[in-house]
Amino acid sequence: MKILLVIIFLVSGCVTTTTNTESDVSRRQLILLPEFMAMSMSEDGYRQEIANAEKNNKLNNDKDELEKVRRIAYKLIDNVYVFREDATKWKWEINVQESEEVNAYCMPGGKIMVYTGLLKKTDATEDEIAAVLGHEISHALREHGRERMSTALVQQVGIIGFAMYLSDGSLGSNTAIQAAALGATLFFALPNSREQEREADKMGIELSARAGFNPMAAVSLWRKMDQLSDAKVPEFLSTHPANENRISDLSIHARKLNQLYLDAKSK
Ligand SMILES: [Zn+2]
Repeated sequence: MKILLVIIFLVSGCVTTTTNTESDVSRRQLILLPEFMAMSMSEDGYRQEIANAEKNNKLNNDKDELEKVRRIAYKLIDNVYVFREDATKWKWEINVQESEEVNAYCMPGGKIMVYTGLLKKTDATEDEIAAVLGHEISHALREHGRERMSTALVQQVGIIGFAMYLSDGSLGSNTAIQAAALGATLFFALPNSREQEREADKMGIELSARAGFNPMAAVSLWRKMDQLSDAKVPEFLSTHPANENRISDLSIHARKLNQLYLDAKSK
């Protein structure tokens, strides 16, 4: 049984999670952790953060702001089918949490959190909010979280141990709870690789353009972020360094996809 699992994982490991589009993101990915596990682990982590924020009266306090963020997010979500049809059926959730932190994320399965620190400190325009959300949604579509969890689990316990862990995890409820805690830890603790960041940048710009948001806002947003990082570097900015190379790649890609934006706007 365990040997069989190992073989299945090795065979099914190398895939690409999204359809190739104008953004030309087609890298083969090593994905071992089953999708349902990544999703349920993330769901658990998201529920915990929502519960904590609610307990501290930090969740969705500014209704106008929440409505704006949700309206922008759903325009982007209306276009995720371009990259993967199944994501249209994800149970998307968008929440805003009061926090000084300049941060936002989208967990596997479409669980989005935006921190007010990001909105306020960058004084983000609607196009710029779309740029951040598009980038974060793209990480989820491309399943960078599951990719990272897969790599980390394999590194930690080895391929055989990993298969045993999975075969136990699907049976015992204690193990499932441990797996959920581990999943949330892995999601937050492991930074995306440079290559994953480049993919999220490209796909995010395409999502923005297709949803009728100015794709050049990615450039202005990351410039603002860069200025913030001079003072104190929060986690999000240290994992998303807005160096000149990145900014110039963003603007080249934004210009390339400008027609998609114009087409979406004229609809
Ligand atoms: Zn990122």
